[in-house]
Amino acid sequence: MKYDVIIIGAGVIGSCIARGLSKYNMKVAVLEKNNDVGNETSNANSAIIHSGYDPECGTLKAKLNVEGNAMFDALCKELDVRFQRIGSITLALDDKDIETLKMLQKRAQQNKVQTTLLNREELLKIEPHLSQHVKAGLLAETAGIIDPFNFCVHLMENAIDNGVDLFLNTQVTSIVKREDGFLINHQFQADMVINCAGLYGDEINEMINPKTFEIIPRKGEYLVLDHFDNAFVKHTLFLVPSDKGKGVLISPTTSHNFLIGPSAEICSKDDKDTDKITINEIKRTASLMVENIPFHQVIRTFAGIRPTPKNHDFIIEESQTKNFINVVGIESPGLASSPAIAKKVIEEIILKKKNYTLKENYDPYVKPYIHIHELSFEERKKWIEKNKDYGEIVCKCEKISKGEILDCLQRSCPPHSIKALKKRLRVGFGKCQGGMCQSIAMHLLANYYKKNLNEISYDSLNSYILCDELKGANKQ
Ligand SMILES: Cc1cc2nc3c(=O)[nH]c(=O)nc-3n(C[C@H](O)[C@H](O)[C@H](O)COP(=O)(O)OP(=O)(O)OC[C@H]3O[C@@H](n4cnc5c(N)ncnc54)[C@H](O)[C@@H]3O)c2cc1C
Repeated sequence: MKYDVIIIGAGVIGSCIARGLSKYNMKVAVLEKNNDVGNETSNANSAIIHSGYDPECGTLKAKLNVEGNAMFDALCKELDVRFQRIGSITLALDDKDIETLKMLQKRAQQNKVQTTLLNREELLKIEPHLSQHVKAGLLAETAGIIDPFNFCVHLMENAIDNGVDLFLNTQVTSIVKREDGFLINHQFQADMVINCAGLYGDEINEMINPKTFEIIPRKGEYLVLDHFDNAFVKHTLFLVPSDKGKGVLISPTTSHNFLIGPSAEICSKDDKDTDKITINEIKRTASLMVENIPFHQVIRTFAGIRPTPKNHDFIIEESQTKNFINVVGIESPGLASSPAIAKKVIEEIILKKKNYTLKENYDPYVKPYIHIHELSFEERKKWIEKNKDYGEIVCKCEKISKGEILDCLQRSCPPHSIKALKKRLRVGFGKCQGGMCQSIAMHLLANYYKKNLNEISYDSLNSYILCDELKGANKQ
């Protein structure tokens, strides 16, 4: 089959473009090297839908962040994704920082983002745990937090439901330009190719073009705190940005945890390790913002890698090779900008080449999910009477039932690994980090895919949890 468009990479950018294109009468495929969507940079970030006040005026980052931010309320309703506009506050610790806040407020005006400068007393009324060092803050009320895992999964699920073909475990290794389009991996044909390969965007580009840009990997390490007190911090708190970016933040998450980080270090493209020195430095910096952070509530550390382009702005353009489009160098605020990036690529590049018509039967809504622990007691009872699996809680920390896991496995972008299940339903996300529920989750995956337990991977292909049979564990 020949596709109109092939997208390389199923991160948030590739998934957003795929879903946007699924509205049109065209054949679209997505090629992804991993065994799940959104499994690289889109899966390890701060999950903030930035307001857009701080990117430099005139950059793509500024324009697309502000446009993207405004699209999230409607989008998250259609996609059944948790999103809350909790607002962000950038904090000043001394007079020099206060001058920076004033400069940032001017920039906010130019970017058309509403902000308010608050003094210490005003800040303490809305954030009572701020440290004694905090002198002032810049509030941006339109900033929000999102569930970044389900955002990506539901974008792709909706794209598939509207006709997009997703090929997982399909690493692009060769691209050839022919008279009639492109040939990828000697197998997939397309009229147009969109390079959304994140950290590997430069390598994909160089399969068909001379080197015109380079992606520098920059690691950000984080700590995750358990859900312990809803009122600990209510906004996303930043320090004033430096030349390394927005710096360390403290933020609630949509799952009522708290995120602290990230750091910023040049690294290799696959270095996702965290280390004690960096984590201690993050703790020290965070303590400048908030008093008595309960670090004993830390349940996990992790790292994400920014695909930083040398010019520090998004690269969204047709390459030297006609019909080969680069959408790369999408570092922060790439998540917040993602719907606006997709709109720009589709309306300003793809539809300018050919006027594809809209599908009559396009459905923007993901099929409904049942979230048992979010229902009232009566509603739960009703669902459990219909299906007793909703009454069998597998993940006790996050209160996820066997019924929800079995539902999830039957959807159009289902999980194939323990981590993929965790990203979708939060199974194993809580205090015990899977200690109690991982083995049950493994059995459910093995039964569903008719595999042996030692064929179930934690994350990427071959990251097996069990290496051999022990006391007949496979004979369930
Ligand atoms: C520490 C950190 C904090 C951040 N915080 C925020 C934030 O709070 N708000 C915000 O707006 N943005 C934030 N970002 C930025 C945001 O996460 C990124 O802009 C966004 O995730 C980039 O998405 P992407 O689809 O371009 O890349 P990716 O998510 O990396 O997707 C690229 C995909 O391409 C696939 N791929 C690569 N090579 C191949 C190949 N050869 N064949 C097939 N597939 C391939 C990969 O497997 C991957 O799935 C943060 C980033 C980091 C690292």
